[in-house]
Amino acid sequence: MATKAALEAQLAVVAGFESPKVALEQYPTPPELAAHLVHLADLRGDIEDRTVVDLGTGTGMLALGAALRSPETVVGVELDSDALTVALDNAHRVGTHTSIHWVRADATRLPLCLGDDTEVTVLMNPPFGAQQGNEHADRAFLETVSDIADVSYSVHNEGSKEFVEAFADDNGGELTDAFRATFDLEHQFEFHESARHQLDAEVFRIEWA
Ligand code: SAH
Repeated sequence: MATKAALEAQLAVVAGFESPKVALEQYPTPPELAAHLVHLADLRGDIEDRTVVDLGTGTGMLALGAALRSPETVVGVELDSDALTVALDNAHRVGTHTSIHWVRADATRLPLCLGDDTEVTVLMNPPFGAQQGNEHADRAFLETVSDIADVSYSVHNEGSKEFVEAFADDNGGELTDAFRATFDLEHQFEFHESARHQLDAEVFRIEWA
């Protein structure tokens, strides 16, 4: 297996959103966080020969990170067609040979039938539900995860552990790992007052029954 540093270097070419949409909470996943998550998942045997689904794929960062290892196939699901255009372009930049299906769909009402025999790993950095009118956006994504995944890795805002653990318990899942991650984001929305913006996040691995 290649190193995490090598993966991070390969992901450094992934371009960000052209004009990020506040309502969709379009925050790009930094390459170091994507590499960390994918490398960890690969070490745990959750990538190789599996179907990896990235819900709210945005720039394609997590889908492409997985594609650079040895999954059977990768599916990137995104509501916004402008973001999918960026993701497609990023797939060319990264230059992976893995088959990636880019699906324009609402991840909370997923029109995908993956088959009972398919081993599915979900990687996602969904909207956190931090914007008005979008509360619990991550809950709706987790509902889809509980329907399709054998195992999932998801990024949430700080302080989500109790909620995520309770959700997993109620839906046949078991929280096996939790770690913190700090996003260092460039100023992208008008309401960000400084040029750089730090976001504390938490990542959870859940095994689903
Ligand atoms: N992981 C991505 C994007 C994270 S931001 C990256 O690193 O670039 C969350 C993404 O979820 C955004 O791209 C947003 O457009 C998308 N999104 C928001 N609501 C969605 C929904 N209901 N269905 C699918 N995608 C959605």
